[in-house]
Amino acid sequence: IQHLAEQQNEPLHPRQQQAVTTTDGPLLILAGAGSGKTRVMTARTAHLIRDKGVPPRQIMVVTFTTKAADEIRQRLARQLPREQARELIAGTFHGIFYRMLLYHQPERWDQRRLLKKDWQKWRLLRESGLLASHPELLGQKEQDVLDAFGVISRWKNEYLLPGQSVSQEAANDAERQAHELYPLYEQAKRTLGWFDFDDMLIGCYEMLRDDAEILRRYQERITHVMIDEFQDINRIQYETVKLLAAPQNNLCVIGDDDQSIYGFRGSDPQYILGFTRDYPQAQTITLEVNYRSRSAIVGLGYSLIGHNRARWKKDCLSFHSEEGETYLFEPDDEEEQASRIVDEISHRIEQGTPPGECAILYRTSESARPILERLSEAGIPFHYTQEEDSFYQRQAVRWTLGYLRLAQDPDDAEALREILPTLYISQEMWNAVRSQAILEDLPILHVLPRLPQWKVYQRKHLQTVTDILAACRECPPAQALELIYEDGRLRDYLKKRAKDRDDGRERWSDELQQLLAAARRHATVAEFLHHVERMAEQEKEWRHARPLPKEGVHVLSIHRAKGLEFDHVFLPDLVEGALPHEYALDAVRKGESSALEEERRLLYVAITRARHSVAVGIPRERFGRKTRPSRFIAEMGG
Ligand code: ATP
Ligand code: MG
Repeated sequence: IQHLAEQQNEPLHPRQQQAVTTTDGPLLILAGAGSGKTRVMTARTAHLIRDKGVPPRQIMVVTFTTKAADEIRQRLARQLPREQARELIAGTFHGIFYRMLLYHQPERWDQRRLLKKDWQKWRLLRESGLLASHPELLGQKEQDVLDAFGVISRWKNEYLLPGQSVSQEAANDAERQAHELYPLYEQAKRTLGWFDFDDMLIGCYEMLRDDAEILRRYQERITHVMIDEFQDINRIQYETVKLLAAPQNNLCVIGDDDQSIYGFRGSDPQYILGFTRDYPQAQTITLEVNYRSRSAIVGLGYSLIGHNRARWKKDCLSFHSEEGETYLFEPDDEEEQASRIVDEISHRIEQGTPPGECAILYRTSESARPILERLSEAGIPFHYTQEEDSFYQRQAVRWTLGYLRLAQDPDDAEALREILPTLYISQEMWNAVRSQAILEDLPILHVLPRLPQWKVYQRKHLQTVTDILAACRECPPAQALELIYEDGRLRDYLKKRAKDRDDGRERWSDELQQLLAAARRHATVAEFLHHVERMAEQEKEWRHARPLPKEGVHVLSIHRAKGLEFDHVFLPDLVEGALPHEYALDAVRKGESSALEEERRLLYVAITRARHSVAVGIPRERFGRKTRPSRFIAEMGG
């Protein structure tokens, strides 16, 4: 389905051929996007098996995504007997290492459960009882703690154990906090029988390092190792690979330092650039032709990435003589941007482009939402796997919609229950009112003010809200939302709550802007609520859609688009704060420019996914705020 290397029958370039047939000793293939690195890796695997007679079970092929690993297996399955293709050790680091651990240490790994998200880690730690003697940690703001878990993960990937992590004086806030949490977290996992993704890597490394017998068996068995996307390897993975590949070191690493985009997980392009230092006998092969992208796209990518300082300079020619299309468009806001992208995609599809050849690549998921909604409305099938939590389940969104539903139908008890906290009504009060209302057969809103234990300010506030809700019935949804936020003081409530919990860097305010933007497109509250309900349903489907439509437009994050290719690529929101992301701009303000270089690499990855066209959207306004075009636009030649 994904198009990792389409033209399998085109002859290889002599340089590519050389990379395929150089099978002894360490080999570095360092080359730009679309130069056929992944294709070479597949061809090299086939060559080892067919021409060199290496049994597939001796070859380990590591890719960055399970999708890419499946692709390699499938391709080989076409060329080899099925059992043989299956024996290849192919997968992601986590997949391969976890299987090794399950095989050799089932007693340690079978029974333990996997922690996937940082908030699960924090919950585990809170519930472990280990924080009893650390009241100061319990009182921490949630976002700070989550940041600290990010730091812990990075340390683990750099193989810094609790005792060795960065010294406390030198660290920033998140690191200082991480320093305290780290040993407690490790202990909580051990005692309660959990592990995280990083533990798989560390566990495997330590097993091989400490158990000479197991290591010897693998070293004898695995005679050839190949690693794609090597620019994103981190320390613990690299150390493990070094152990496995020894002593023959038939180790082939493939990558492009310009595409290193997982710095937050401890990946470091220095490993690919330093490979020949670690293996002085290594041969290096560079590939200089981009077979994927038409020439204007290649040019765009290279003028952009040329602004990075920390890189290895490469030459790159386009194999294709056609220019291809690259264009900017400047819609008024994110909604118009979405419509224009979706119109363009429908047009392409009408002209015969398969939907799966169009991709919308985003930096953060807010950029995807309006586009997904427009795609649904247009009835265009698409693939979307969401990494984040559900938009319609977020608290600020649920409260807002609760108010609107109540405006539309004052008898909607569920809606009223949803917004209780914002009216300062407790669960006990609610229960009392509820039974009263049922007994008297009256709308709850009528019974509420009669409660004796009410304080004056509660009564007043409820009266205001009731009046506003009545007024809302008459007005268009965007205006109704304004009334609820401003006069109904929901905005104040959200602000106060966010301040108390310091959650989500004022994320709620983006959420309100997104709702407002959607509301502006509808004439009545009823119509808007209907739209919202449909979208919430859709969202559930996007999240749980199995099986995915066979052929659909791809909506995915740039991080996940790595290694893939599409005819037409759409990049929404090339504005400051979105790409480059606000975090990176923050870092720049603090004097760290490396974060900006990583953002530039992200955009480079995004552009170089395209074969024929790249469209870049620069909305003048985004979620109600004026924007400035991304600084990268000028760097690409405006
Ligand atoms: P990325 O850095 O994005 O991972 P890559 O270097 O791995 O890119 P591939 O995905 O292997 O590049 O190849 C890019 C495209 O070029 C594929 O469609 C592939 O089939 C095609 N291709 C590779 N080599 C040749 C060739 N010699 N002749 C024609 N097409 C080729
Ligand atoms: Mg590749």
